[in-house]
Amino acid sequence: MGQALRAVRGMNDILPAQSSGWRALEQGFRAWAERYGFGEIRTPLVEPTALFGRSIGDGTDIVDKEMYSFVDKGEHALTLRPEGTASVVRAFVQHKLYALEPVTKLYYLGPMYRRERPARGRYRQFHQVGVELFGDAGPLVDAEVIDLAVRYLEAAGIPRLAVHLNSLGGPAARSAYEIALKTYLTPHRTSLSADSQRRLELNPLRILDSKDPADQAVVQHAPTLTAFLDDTDRAHFAALQEALARLDIPVVHDPKLVRGLDYYSRTLFEIRATDDTLGAQNAVCGGGRYDALVQSLGGPDCPAVGFAMGLERLLLLQPSQPAPTTPDVFAVAVSPDERPTLLALVQQLRQHGLSVDVDLRGQSLKSQMRRADKSGARLALLLGADEAAASAVQVRDLVAQQSERLAQSGLAAALRARLDAAAASSDTER
Ligand code: AMP
Repeated sequence: MGQALRAVRGMNDILPAQSSGWRALEQGFRAWAERYGFGEIRTPLVEPTALFGRSIGDGTDIVDKEMYSFVDKGEHALTLRPEGTASVVRAFVQHKLYALEPVTKLYYLGPMYRRERPARGRYRQFHQVGVELFGDAGPLVDAEVIDLAVRYLEAAGIPRLAVHLNSLGGPAARSAYEIALKTYLTPHRTSLSADSQRRLELNPLRILDSKDPADQAVVQHAPTLTAFLDDTDRAHFAALQEALARLDIPVVHDPKLVRGLDYYSRTLFEIRATDDTLGAQNAVCGGGRYDALVQSLGGPDCPAVGFAMGLERLLLLQPSQPAPTTPDVFAVAVSPDERPTLLALVQQLRQHGLSVDVDLRGQSLKSQMRRADKSGARLALLLGADEAAASAVQVRDLVAQQSERLAQSGLAAALRARLDAAAASSDTER
């Protein structure tokens, strides 16, 4: 045997025992996003590298250190998407979606790629669900998208979360703050990491995002942006807080929540786990307003707000996950000769919508019955020479331990009726 290969570090296989938990989160998100009027968009996993420099911004950890970038055989500089917003905005501009409706609401889900140091809750391939709402600059839609995030997380059964909220202000507040931050940081220059010493000249706001412990220690006492907001920024923030209160969403105003990504303006929020299940990776959802991004990617002046959340972290926080799916019926050949007839019968049942498993290896009756019990199926269907000759089957309820003989004609409906009755009675027992 050759040496076994392993998956790329930080990139995980999702095995059948885990996939029902994944599916529940994904289907739940689709349902909630659609309930809020969002339509699904699917963009390629690979984008031109330049897209991320222009949106997330050069000088950020993501763009400088974490992207999986490569040159393909046609000499194109390409990157595996590190997040969803840049791609969605690119598609929004490319297909002129802004010309179709005044307000466009899009949601997405899928894998993202960042070459971070793998840890619990931090992977190199991870999965995000997210939304972007275009065309409304008002604070009420900020509240609406936060409400979607909160209600979805609640329905997914994620306990102990807190919404952290801040306002970054518009461009004026941001540049005034940048000067103040630079003035504060300059005397601490030598305590900063080499990267942040460079950022101090280029874009000091980036330092606030740094994951380096030395940078974080310095940043802890930095001035906050709140004092630099102008009247319009303040009114927007106040209206947002009021709307959230009406929607019953408690928030923590967190003036230290500032991100150096180029595209954020005004509203910024993060939803965090309040216990230590996730350790340092306690953010489950990040989002905010990015009113300048559409224009900077070649579109019209069009405000936007959105969020993204990571599914791996939600799975780590969920106290319990749905059980793996089980078949309705497990079909058993009493002797190996019955297998071709049994397979044809099973095909019929499957075409009628039943989920049916079968072991066609020709094992003993006992071994097949053991597999039927283990499969979690409620019913076993047995076909022996007698039954085959009479166009009948034996059906055994594996919970009630009772058997009966049923005709092969109309079998799917008869099995469905028994499954429904069994489900109804186990519901009343609960
Ligand atoms: P961000 O795009 O960095 O704001 O991230 C949004 C959300 O995606 C975070 O709150 C996490 O839930 C998730 N996330 C980001 N990076 C990773 C990662 N490397 N591994 C797992 N989840 C991640």
